[in-house]
Amino acid sequence: MSTAKDISRKVMGKLGDWNINPTPAAYAVLFSHFEGENSSLSEVIESCLSEGTQPTEILFNRLYSKFFAEYSNDNEQIEKLAKELVNQSSGLQGLAHALGSSANTFSAEVRAQADSAAKQPTADVDIEKLVSGLLELTQKTVQQNKILEDKLDMAISNIGDLHDTLRQAEQHAHTDFLTKLPNRRKFDDFLSQQIEEADATGEPLCLIVGDVDHFKSFNDKFGHKVGDQVLALVASIIKKNVKGKDLAARYGGEEFVIALPCTQLNQARAVADYIREEIANRPLALRKSNKEIGSVTISFGVAEWAPGETEEAFFIAADAALYEAKGTGRNKVAVAPNRLAESA
Ligand code: GH3
Ligand code: MG
Ligand code: MG
Repeated sequence: MSTAKDISRKVMGKLGDWNINPTPAAYAVLFSHFEGENSSLSEVIESCLSEGTQPTEILFNRLYSKFFAEYSNDNEQIEKLAKELVNQSSGLQGLAHALGSSANTFSAEVRAQADSAAKQPTADVDIEKLVSGLLELTQKTVQQNKILEDKLDMAISNIGDLHDTLRQAEQHAHTDFLTKLPNRRKFDDFLSQQIEEADATGEPLCLIVGDVDHFKSFNDKFGHKVGDQVLALVASIIKKNVKGKDLAARYGGEEFVIALPCTQLNQARAVADYIREEIANRPLALRKSNKEIGSVTISFGVAEWAPGETEEAFFIAADAALYEAKGTGRNKVAVAPNRLAESA
């Protein structure tokens, strides 16, 4: 046997299917029908359905007046229905907002029903009292929905906070602490994506790898702390010159990398050379004493992705060019030979 709650769900579902507002009349009539305890009421609904006619709000109002206004001594019956509505609303957290407004409508409807019932000659019972009980329960529903809405708002705001925390954590996991540039992990993900993209679109893709020159002796001379500050400065110069879709990262130690989607080799070489020059021309001074300590330089290797080659081969090509830049005097940009012919 169905519980009142099951019946209640069924009622709400049907009202939804038929696009009928859950007014007290509609709700009470349909509840009674599914409960199966009022055969004459069910007969009317069944015959309506068997004719293929969809029940309307008007029909429910009519049936309500016919069967419920005469329900002289069944205060309990109506209270039971109203209670079920209250119970039901507490189980529908996700719909709290929607219910808030429908419960208000419900309340107004009950008031209207009370007025019209009071005018009917058949309503010799204390219909006013009966309905005011129902009204009270409806008010509770409204209040309950308000609480649910507040809870829902709180949950939404908690979820928002959680999202922010997660975003921050994600950001942390992808950012180099010293220079605030993306880190190696982020760069590797980005490069793989860009390789896929270049593969699909046929657009060129370039990779620049850079390494600060003689940085060990710089550290030895001025200390690791000054070295850190210089790395942060180098990073800021690189970042400033990397635009659009390009992504620069600190790959580790004093090594930096830049991925340049949709960029040809000569353009990438120009970017590297511009950065190289800006770094070399930036005079450095100790913060405490203001004493000038010259400048640092950086060497770059540049390669263009050859369709079909692996990410590793791409890196090896750029590294080989960097090695060449180092070997031929440093503070230089060297370009990897074209591997397009090989890969084809
Ligand atoms: P080369 O021109 O051949 O690159 O010479 P190098 O001295 O830069 O190369 P090497 O690989 O021998 O040394 C790299 C130095 O970079 C050693 C290390 O102390 C320094 N370094 C790496 N990471 C950091 C860092 O986070 N902070 C500081 N201050 N120094 C770092
Ligand atoms: Mg190095
Ligand atoms: Mg170095």
